[in-house]
Amino acid sequence: MKVVLQLLAVGAMCMTACSAPPVPAASEAGASSIPYTAADFQRVRKFDAHVHANADHPAFLEQARADGFELMSINVDYPDFPTIVTQHRVALALARAEPSRFHWAATFSMRGFGEPGWGDRVEADLAAAAAQGARAVKIWKNVGMVEKDADGRLIMLDDPALSPVAETIRGLDVALIGHQGEPHNCWLPLEQMTTENDREYFRNHPQYHMYLHPEQPGYEDQMAARDRFVAAHPGLRFVGAHMASLEYDVDRLAAFLDRFPNATVDLAARMSQVQYQSVRDRGKVRDFFIRYQDRLLYGTDLAMDPASDPQEFKQAAHAVWTSDWRYLATDGSQYVKTIEADVPGLALPRDVIDKVYYRNAVRVFAP
Ligand SMILES: [Zn+2]
Repeated sequence: MKVVLQLLAVGAMCMTACSAPPVPAASEAGASSIPYTAADFQRVRKFDAHVHANADHPAFLEQARADGFELMSINVDYPDFPTIVTQHRVALALARAEPSRFHWAATFSMRGFGEPGWGDRVEADLAAAAAQGARAVKIWKNVGMVEKDADGRLIMLDDPALSPVAETIRGLDVALIGHQGEPHNCWLPLEQMTTENDREYFRNHPQYHMYLHPEQPGYEDQMAARDRFVAAHPGLRFVGAHMASLEYDVDRLAAFLDRFPNATVDLAARMSQVQYQSVRDRGKVRDFFIRYQDRLLYGTDLAMDPASDPQEFKQAAHAVWTSDWRYLATDGSQYVKTIEADVPGLALPRDVIDKVYYRNAVRVFAP
């Protein structure tokens, strides 16, 4: 499968006054439910909770319609993407074209952080975006890895000056999608990485390959700052993008989800890390999905940019969506190039698939 999509190998939860969703025992949840088939893909209602529609072109929506997906398109303060202003304009246009299918997340620039007026400006912009229909706000890995304060220190997510922004987002009753840190592979040499997509990304983006930058905060520093932030804002619906950068170990991710009942995570651009684990212990990974069926959001990181060929993009999106369906929903096996392995499907119970693929996203992004 020629995947032309841009996988952002980097990296976003709960209800006000919420209590944690019930955690079903792995053994009891849907044990009698018959899995979906490959043919069910077209008809089941689905939601891709992490995409980037950066081109004002109908192709992405057309493929989503054909394959039965709603989209959460996430604006990002990312130098490889069009400007935030352009991303915002595209999101409004696509949401106008099909409001029931196209949802979007606003973002904000860290430029001017620490200067007088920065916080007020950001908070006013986010309130305006929410009034225009934004369902979430994205904060990217530049917080923790790129942006520096006036003293030249990296700004971490738990910086006190970001706290009022988080409370504004909570007050607007939209989710915060946080991508902090990187996959665990980022701190390893290329040859020790577990998946080819990470190897390719970090080969092409050495500035983000932390193995080469030992002077930067380590993996555990990034995770600890993110955890302090989530703990400090228990009323915020926090979505840990890219499996909250805990993609390499479902036990570690389970501990995060247990600790923070206001958190969910999306699976975007990390399916191969899940597959890497399930090839070694399918039962363990399957039990994880069943146990945390209320806390996981299906997502891909599909990105359509102005330079994307619309037909190629549509084919790639369809290929990714059907491959993931085969893996999560059916017991069909497939060869996965990024980990050079035949990967049997998890054949998750239908009620689990319905939550991971749709109902959780609706709860988090459109309560
Ligand atoms: Zn992304």
